[in-house]
Amino acid sequence: MRGLMMDTPLLISSLIEYAALYHAGTEIVSRTVEGPIHRTTYLDARNRSKQLAGVLQRLGVEPGDRVGTLAWNGYRHFEIYYAVSGMGAVCHTINPRLFAEQLVYIINHAEDAYLFVDLTFVPLLESIQEQIPGVRGYVVMTDAEHMPETSLPNALCYEELMARESADFDWPALDENTASSLCYTSGTTGHPKGALFSHRSTVLHSYSACSLDTLGVCSRTIVLPVVPMFHANAWGLPYAAALAGAKLVMPGARLDGEGIHQLVEAEEVDLLAGVPTVWLMLLGYLEQNGKTIDSVEKVVIGGAAAPRSMIEAFQQRHGATVIHAWGMTETSPIGTIGTLKRQHDGLPEEERVTLQLKQGRGVYGIELRIVDDEGNELPRDGVAFGELQVRGPWVVRSYFRHDGEILGDEGWFSTGDVATLSPDGFMQITDRSKDVIKSGGEWISSIDLENEVVSHPSVAEAAVIGIAHPKWDERPLLVVVPAEGAAPERDEILSHLEGRIVKWWMPDDVVFVDELPHTATGKISKLTLREQFSDYQLPTA
Ligand code: AMP
Repeated sequence: MRGLMMDTPLLISSLIEYAALYHAGTEIVSRTVEGPIHRTTYLDARNRSKQLAGVLQRLGVEPGDRVGTLAWNGYRHFEIYYAVSGMGAVCHTINPRLFAEQLVYIINHAEDAYLFVDLTFVPLLESIQEQIPGVRGYVVMTDAEHMPETSLPNALCYEELMARESADFDWPALDENTASSLCYTSGTTGHPKGALFSHRSTVLHSYSACSLDTLGVCSRTIVLPVVPMFHANAWGLPYAAALAGAKLVMPGARLDGEGIHQLVEAEEVDLLAGVPTVWLMLLGYLEQNGKTIDSVEKVVIGGAAAPRSMIEAFQQRHGATVIHAWGMTETSPIGTIGTLKRQHDGLPEEERVTLQLKQGRGVYGIELRIVDDEGNELPRDGVAFGELQVRGPWVVRSYFRHDGEILGDEGWFSTGDVATLSPDGFMQITDRSKDVIKSGGEWISSIDLENEVVSHPSVAEAAVIGIAHPKWDERPLLVVVPAEGAAPERDEILSHLEGRIVKWWMPDDVVFVDELPHTATGKISKLTLREQFSDYQLPTA
């Protein structure tokens, strides 16, 4: 027997309509590429999204067409999110930090009809324009006054197009499984692969983001996503903020500590979200300039493991609560969340932080399990570790225009992460499967080691990679970026690790460098690092 409830489709257009109706005056504040701070409201953003949908229709964009963006977090990018998906086309956010060849590959693979581009990235597109002949036109996200001289063919000015359009556009009543947006993963091997989200997956993910035990976005929230809108849809925050009616603060091109701090103070931001690399910059700036972030209540850290020193700095020095989260582009991205439970209230702070080093529980909707090399499920005992697999309504079941099955038995998606699951449901990532160090048949977790190393006050950033060893197969090499003004010694770092890690995990050597290579999404690029140290001879070898 079927239930007798309405079949109302879950559509992205309904999020902005809701925000415009119930939170009409709530602000979206953006630091613009042109310079000044721009302020708008949900009502205005809804109207302009409709205008833009009209523009797209006039440009000949059809349902299902891909419309690309190379843009920072800002109000025009927000309008594009809603206009493109709302009209039934696919909003393809492109990470401008990728290598030129990857950009060319992605734009051609997606067959983007139009590209919307912030002023910053016009030269980048000019340099590859001849390799992306399928693009019919380029919309520069600025006004007539700032429109640059450009060699891009069919370059159009965003505000000029908008000025000619009314807000009369009617959102189509799409099937909720219609594709809404597309984001390629910057995978370390092979070509980038496209995760193609749907209206349904996006709306369900937004509900999850808003629940109190997840990110707790609500109408009182003032959220600043430092995580870019080209990285897994800024973790879904542009949608969740509209669903909740939260004030959105968009940092534009300035992700440095000072830029973020200024916005936090001026707009009284209470929720921050971003990867550890940006928090290193923010915490460094606060420390050096004696500044605080008093309005901030919660800092979401994801994309890479949050080290203890970072969690402690936010909680103990700045009075904010860290929410450690795990996810991937393929999981929309929220998968697990490390909010603590009531039963943890009485624990000493150090033990609470130890729990927060874990990536947390699966949120409702995401099932998790760990398996061994043969695919057998491993116990949830906090000790056994194996590949993490996930399943749920906002997890990919295939990649865009990709042949072949990507799901394993019973529809599980293999994440490529290695993790433990504890009996109370907390998951902890120990490594990417490609990054684990195999020493004498046992595994060493590079993430655990790195976390301990960065708790040394003279260390800014650290990475551990496996180096070939004649006896042990691989042994760990520690690569350290010293903190500003510090000059730590090898032995001082190693003795800091004594007692904090099991003996046989002790790195065989330490190398000091000025900086570590990072990927386009701000993670330490272990692949590049392994290449850089491919000829390295360990003193123990
Ligand atoms: P991306 O698709 O670029 O967001 O990358 C997803 C990958 O980032 C995951 O598969 C993990 O390897 C890594 N990752 C995400 N969040 C965390 C976290 N909190 N701790 C450790 N690794 C993480």
